[in-house]
Amino acid sequence: MKRLLLLIALAGMSIGLSSVAQAATVINNGDQQYFNSGTSTGTDNPADDHNEPVRPLTIPQETPIPLEGYRWKMRKIKIYLASGNPEIRAGFRHAVRGWNATGAIHFIWTKHRSKAQVIATDGDLTATANQNTAGTTTRQLGTTETSYDPQTHAMLRATSILDSGTLNGTSLAYRTEVAEHELGHALGLAHAQEYQHSVMVPRNVRTGITHEDARSVRLLYNR
Ligand SMILES: [Zn+2]
Repeated sequence: MKRLLLLIALAGMSIGLSSVAQAATVINNGDQQYFNSGTSTGTDNPADDHNEPVRPLTIPQETPIPLEGYRWKMRKIKIYLASGNPEIRAGFRHAVRGWNATGAIHFIWTKHRSKAQVIATDGDLTATANQNTAGTTTRQLGTTETSYDPQTHAMLRATSILDSGTLNGTSLAYRTEVAEHELGHALGLAHAQEYQHSVMVPRNVRTGITHEDARSVRLLYNR
């Protein structure tokens, strides 16, 4: 009986999520240039262990910047800096300050990887480089992988990776903007449209966190 109820709930969920899935298609297209919001994997609901009723988190419908459709359950989010690269570390540190200044959430640095919800690190994203029709190869500056519970819309884990090869030697302001973009994904923001004033515009980093970005995360986290 319990299993049957769960199946019905899942069927209902897949209908409810169809608009989100559509948005995700757009995101992945944008990602083929510079960014990648990564793969989102649903997992089994851990809440089943406690026999608690599943209460999905509310995800607002109307936000200036599009949402992925899930968020953290808590507003205090522990983040672990796994990168040993001083330039990447500085970018992430500034980006954390930027998101904390929105008042929507509060990133807290932890020294314990196992206690972190978000991992901030660097990597070599050369393997994910794309060649466009003009023959120029563009490398991704960053990528973020998230996992969430499709029943509760609760994010379970996020890993943001900045490409040290392309970002080393760039300005701190630029590294910060790229880190803000990736941590934006780690909070549940999707890609903005090209014409929007947002750190979440995928192809072209032109700005840091804007009022629209801040407003969107505040709406997402009920602040
Ligand atoms: Zn992105």
